[in-house]
Amino acid sequence: MSGSAASDLAARIDALLPQTQCTRCGFSGCRPYAEAVASGAAQFNRCPPGGTAVLEQLAALLGKAPLALDPAVGVAGDPRVAWIDESRCIGCARCLPPCPVDAIVGAQKYLHTVLAERCTGCELCLPPCPVDCIELRPSARPVPSAELNRARHHAHVRRAERRSAQRAQELAAIKAAARSAE
Ligand code: SF4
Ligand code: SF4
Ligand code: SF4
Repeated sequence: MSGSAASDLAARIDALLPQTQCTRCGFSGCRPYAEAVASGAAQFNRCPPGGTAVLEQLAALLGKAPLALDPAVGVAGDPRVAWIDESRCIGCARCLPPCPVDAIVGAQKYLHTVLAERCTGCELCLPPCPVDCIELRPSARPVPSAELNRARHHAHVRRAERRSAQRAQELAAIKAAARSAE
């Protein structure tokens, strides 16, 4: 397959994925997983949040027989959302950067809370919390659509890039000031 055909197929696979960016497939996000499937480096049955519906759509797109979810990546499971026990939150803000859809609000030294309507239940905010005050709870809300997740994730990435560029600029200014003071 040519490079552009593989890229086109990856885009079509990515369009079917739920865009939670949860990494449960073993890749750093939906697009990298789509590229691995398109190139043949990964099977198409490694996306638990997609469930049976996405598995069937991927099989049809790829012209393959449907497969069951790979047991190595866990089970699809019922919808859940993160919940922060505010009586234990120390306001360290470590849960903010890992959330791919910016579903947590709060600032350094302030309590943090989860916007349940945005949360995909991806669990990526759990490990960084130093006091383990975030838990996943069952949710009766409809899960956010792939379109919303994609738009929120793109906004998250753009914001992170802006922050990183700003930090680099500030660091360069500090170094320049230190050099001129020598
Ligand atoms: S939603 Fe599916 S494809 Fe996307 S990162 Fe999670 S497991 Fe991988
Ligand atoms: S709040 Fe936590 S579980 Fe919910 S989307 Fe963000 S990182 Fe994932
Ligand atoms: S990582 Fe945990 S303690 Fe820190 S702000 Fe988030 S919820 Fe609060």
